[in-house]
Amino acid sequence: MTSPTPPAPTEGDAKVSNFLRQIIEADLAKGTYASRRWAGSPGDAAHQASGQPDPAKIRTRFPPEPNGYLHVGHAKSICLNFGLARDYGGICHLRFDDTNPEKESTEFVNSIIDAVQWLGFGWQAGGVNHLYQASDYFDFMYHAAEYLVQAGHAYVDEQTTEQMRINRGDFSKPGVDSPFRSRTPAENLARFREMRAGEHEDGSMVLRAKIDMASPNINMRDPAIYRIRRATHHHTGDTWCIYPMYTFAHPIEDALEQITHSFCTLEFEDQRPFYDWLLERLCEGGLLKAPPPRQYEFARLNLTYVITSKRKLAQLVYDHKVSGWDDPRMPTIVGLRRRGYTPQSIQLFAERIGVTKSDSWIDYSTLEGCLREDLENKAHRAMAVLDPVKLVMTNWGEVFGSDDHTEDCTQPALPHSAIAEGQTPPPDRVFKIGNAVWIEREDFEEVPPKGYKRLYPGNVVRLKGGYVIECTGCAKDADGKVTEVQAKVIAGTKSGTPGADSVKAKAAITWVAVADGISAEVRLYDRLFSDPHPDAGGKDFIEALNPNSLKVVQAWLEPSLATAQPDDKFQFERHGYFVADRVDHGVDGKAVFNRVTGLKDSWK
Ligand code: ATP
Ligand code: MG
Repeated sequence: MTSPTPPAPTEGDAKVSNFLRQIIEADLAKGTYASRRWAGSPGDAAHQASGQPDPAKIRTRFPPEPNGYLHVGHAKSICLNFGLARDYGGICHLRFDDTNPEKESTEFVNSIIDAVQWLGFGWQAGGVNHLYQASDYFDFMYHAAEYLVQAGHAYVDEQTTEQMRINRGDFSKPGVDSPFRSRTPAENLARFREMRAGEHEDGSMVLRAKIDMASPNINMRDPAIYRIRRATHHHTGDTWCIYPMYTFAHPIEDALEQITHSFCTLEFEDQRPFYDWLLERLCEGGLLKAPPPRQYEFARLNLTYVITSKRKLAQLVYDHKVSGWDDPRMPTIVGLRRRGYTPQSIQLFAERIGVTKSDSWIDYSTLEGCLREDLENKAHRAMAVLDPVKLVMTNWGEVFGSDDHTEDCTQPALPHSAIAEGQTPPPDRVFKIGNAVWIEREDFEEVPPKGYKRLYPGNVVRLKGGYVIECTGCAKDADGKVTEVQAKVIAGTKSGTPGADSVKAKAAITWVAVADGISAEVRLYDRLFSDPHPDAGGKDFIEALNPNSLKVVQAWLEPSLATAQPDDKFQFERHGYFVADRVDHGVDGKAVFNRVTGLKDSWK
């Protein structure tokens, strides 16, 4: 993006238009928000009026509630909000929607900051840090609520929750006015102030907007806007015993921050009339500056084999179904990161799935495909043997003068196709070959099935990057399990030497020398659920857990991996993409690698 001559856009880079881009472009063309001012910080009408014309062409926001770790669905929203702001000369705010004191904490606040930054986005612009928290607006919200009460647009309702529910009616039945609805503004104001002063029990009364109990939209039937809740807030402590409802708080947060386009998921569509109603009232009253922000809805991300509900993800953590929020099987951003996903692959994914106005399911393989695409030309190759059996070349001493003789072999770190024109290829990998090597157990068959081209007695195979060998047999234990494969090395056939092609091999197999192989724990992760829709239709998602989602093996790796640092990614030839675990790799000298994904989609 900062490069003066950007490379030609690939499919992943091309910005495909969508209905949100069209809305923004239309607003920019019409100058819908051209008159807005920005005083350098969020604030009410008077505050913003004192400022400069807003240098940001649009303002968007990503507004998580700090009640859990972010997941891949949030990543879509992050890429969308920050991406659109970046593309249209705007600014995206990171705002903690912390109006619900009970479930929020600073642990979650910090994890969200990390996740957004790791994904590659920031909220600094023009020397200003656009990181906000809704709880900073509690004073204004309270003031706005008093205004609504005084203007006759809100009243304190003392019906029980049950009465309120019954009187709200339903789709076929209009609501019934509360007996408290006709109180005077003065009575309501006195009551509301008592609520704030802590003179009433939790749940004994609420403040409601006074709109229309017969509205076909149930959200417009006098929604509650403030409730009494004696709870300590992680930021405001015990200052408040009343808290605003989300539907009241959210539009106000947007307006105070001069947001132009407020993007949310489809389930908020029915809330839009209230969003508009509230901001119109507050603009009318001169508390907020017109034009108010507008809300637009897009389809949330539904990914097969994945759960995207913070509450359900929390259950997996607290019930120890996974090792924590960052378990590499979790769809949380910390989980994806530890699994080996890159920020680029997730951005590519968000771009590729696009935004639509109707719900649908995205196949998990789309996410994996984006990762493969990102790593294909970046991840250095290496050989690894995940299910080792020893192969001994019985004539090694005869051919090379000693059984202890070893030789260096070299292979490119990246294939030729991965090197861009003019780019210097990374140095070759160097590893030894000796009389004994580790091979995959599945690469030997005493009696070969039809079409089998790898090792069986009499067959000729190349040890990739090393010598051609001829299999001669095997040794077995009392149970008939193969304990050692035997072969003869064919002199003069080393890869890269003139004689390399002198003998035709049926196949090339991967291997690691006993002489310099490094032992590692490899965690073979698979999908956490075996059901593509683990929680659809109220299903018990715990029953859909994949019992084979983690298999741990002790593997042999080629020595180029000895210098791998946590988070470094590799392609283990024929096995897939792997990452040095960011938590456990290197601890007590142990090598630990996670499988990110296979080389191709194996679930189809
Ligand atoms: P959850 O139900 O998992 O708690 P949420 O919507 O309550 O999710 P918030 O913290 O309120 O979580 O979400 C912050 C933003 O992320 C919101 O704008 C929300 O619309 C968006 N978001 C959440 N889940 C998804 C999803 N699956 N796809 C796209 N956007 C999402
Ligand atoms: Mg929410």
